[in-house]
Amino acid sequence: MINKRSFKTDEDGLIDFTRKLIQTPSLSMQEENVANLVADKMREIGFDEVAIDPIHNVTGTLYGDDPQPELIFNGHMDHVPPGDMPEPYSGKIADGSKYGVKNRVIEGRGACDMKGALASMIYGAKALKNSGIRLKKTFVMTAVVREEMAKGEGILRLLEQGGLKGRMAVSGEATHLQTHLGHRGKLEFTLGVKGKTAHASNPSRGINAIYKMCDFIGDMREHYKLPSHPLLGDCTFTVIDIVSGPGRLGPITPDWCEVALDRRYLPEETAASVKRELEALIDGHKKVDPEFKATVELVKDFPPLYCSPGEPIVQIIQEARKTVLGDEGDVSTWKFGVDGTFIQRAGIPCAGFGPGDERFAHTPEDHVPIADLVASCEVYAEIIRKACCS
Ligand SMILES: [Zn+2]
Repeated sequence: MINKRSFKTDEDGLIDFTRKLIQTPSLSMQEENVANLVADKMREIGFDEVAIDPIHNVTGTLYGDDPQPELIFNGHMDHVPPGDMPEPYSGKIADGSKYGVKNRVIEGRGACDMKGALASMIYGAKALKNSGIRLKKTFVMTAVVREEMAKGEGILRLLEQGGLKGRMAVSGEATHLQTHLGHRGKLEFTLGVKGKTAHASNPSRGINAIYKMCDFIGDMREHYKLPSHPLLGDCTFTVIDIVSGPGRLGPITPDWCEVALDRRYLPEETAASVKRELEALIDGHKKVDPEFKATVELVKDFPPLYCSPGEPIVQIIQEARKTVLGDEGDVSTWKFGVDGTFIQRAGIPCAGFGPGDERFAHTPEDHVPIADLVASCEVYAEIIRKACCS
């Protein structure tokens, strides 16, 4: 399906490097070994400057005539624990048919999230460099730590203390070779309900906090109207955990119950606006049940990402894809969140393009198709050319 091979990809090198990355475990906070591999590879390729910061973020720069950074590529080096994956660090080359993929794949934890993409971006830079095309503007490759901890610690350090700058950025998280413009944000709240203890043999003397919580959640499920976005999709909420007390030590009705509430949100909303909505729902429920007492507290906020389709980086990705694969492909969004959201919040528009299918991220079927690796590598080289060489 490849239309026009404008760059020569070192396919064997790309496959070997992807496998080596997978064979080097790099749980969050334990990225040092993989960071050294990435930095060594960048030096071997001939990046003008390669730096590792104190928490092991790696930055590689290819300078253009203008030393101000124009384009940033971003990926993360950490992966989630192997879980129930049988051979997480094998980096095995396997037949892809068991995953519905025509040709060969590379298997292992982090293959699609996102060591394949990291290798591909770095080899994209190599293909461009080897082509001899002169860079007029500067390209920066960032391979960051601690993404899976979902607080953006690695990328935020580069942006806030490392002075990372640029005019546009690409996140290499898995997009199945399509262009992604963002994702919903994620809020987590603790919702607490107060009751009154009583002997469990005589429950009507107490106020059972679990029952009060169930009634309220039932009310929310029926009446809480959530917004929707044409591309990012519907907002959702769901209860992800529940605890109550004093517990099972004695026969006693619980006087407190807490749930953790996951609420996905849109760029036009804020944590504060969603909290106000939840408070209004609590107030509304009090009108129906005067005994109802509840509090709500924000515990986590992973911001949404939405890169406008009018941003130059979106066009550049689509044109690069067309040059390599014959068409612009689809515009879509991720289900999960990516570090690109922090890049965009720092004022650098960030869109996504990457190999692999996000459905396999964090599953025992984690893999990346070799054809995707090669195709994305060529698209990355084209993106650098379009952004930095004209
Ligand atoms: Zn990821």
